[in-house]
Amino acid sequence: MNKLDDEKIGLWRARQRMTRHQLSSRGIQDERVLEAISRIPREAFVPEALRDRAYDDTPLPIGDGQTISQPYIVALMTQTLELHGDEKVLEIGTGSGYQAAVLAQICQKVFSIERSYSLSAHARKILEDLGYTNILLRVGDGTVGWAEFSPYDRIVVTAAAPSIPKTLSNQLKIGGMLIVPVGDRLQQELMVLRRTETDFTIQSAGPCVFVPLIGREGWSN
Ligand code: SAM
Repeated sequence: MNKLDDEKIGLWRARQRMTRHQLSSRGIQDERVLEAISRIPREAFVPEALRDRAYDDTPLPIGDGQTISQPYIVALMTQTLELHGDEKVLEIGTGSGYQAAVLAQICQKVFSIERSYSLSAHARKILEDLGYTNILLRVGDGTVGWAEFSPYDRIVVTAAAPSIPKTLSNQLKIGGMLIVPVGDRLQQELMVLRRTETDFTIQSAGPCVFVPLIGREGWSN
C-alpha cells in the first residue's frame, strides 16, 4: 500500500468515527443523514492545509472570512428538514458546497446561492469533481431567494439573519419548511418555520453560532 492509500484509509476511518461519535451519539438518528455524511469526503471541501482536521467537530475557515459549518450543525439542520427524497431544496450560503452535497445525496434537486463569487466558483469545481448533477449554483443575494424555481419544499439558510427573511418564507410551498439561524451577530437560535394553508408556525431548534447573512433582507454589512 502506498502513502496515498494510507491517507485515504485514515480519512475514511476518521469519517466513520465522526459519524458515530459526533453525530449518532448526540441525537442524529435519521439514517439518510448519517448515510450521506458517512459517504461524503469532507476533506475535499476544506483547504488543503486543513485536510487532517476535516473530521474535527468544528467549523473550519474556507477563505473570504467564511467557514464550513461544524459537522454536527450540518447534520442537525439536515435532520430537522425531515427529508424524504423527493424534495426541491433551496440553500442560502453555498460556502464550501458541503451542505449542498449532503442535501443532494438525500433529496431530488438542490438550488444554492452564495454571495461570494470566488467561494461559489470553488464549490462548483469540487461538486463537479465529485460528480454531483442535481445541484444548481448561483452567485447573488440569497436573502431574496430564487423566485424562478420557487416554490420550494425546504429552504435552509446557513448564515445568521437578524429576522426571518420574508421573501424566503413566501417562496415556500404549503407544507414546506424553512430553517434559519436568527439573532444578533454573536449568537442565534435555529428557527424552524412551517407554512400551513393559511399561515406560518415557528419553533426553535436550539442555540447556534453562524457568520452573518448579508443582503437586502439580512444584515447590511
Ligand atoms: N453551507 C456552507 C458550507 O456547507 O460550507 C457554509 C456556509 S457559511 C457558514 C455562510 C455562507 O453564507 C458564507 O459563504 C457567506 O458568504 C454566505 N452568505 C452570507 N450572506 C449571504 C447572502 N445574502 N446570500 C448568499 N450567501 C450569503
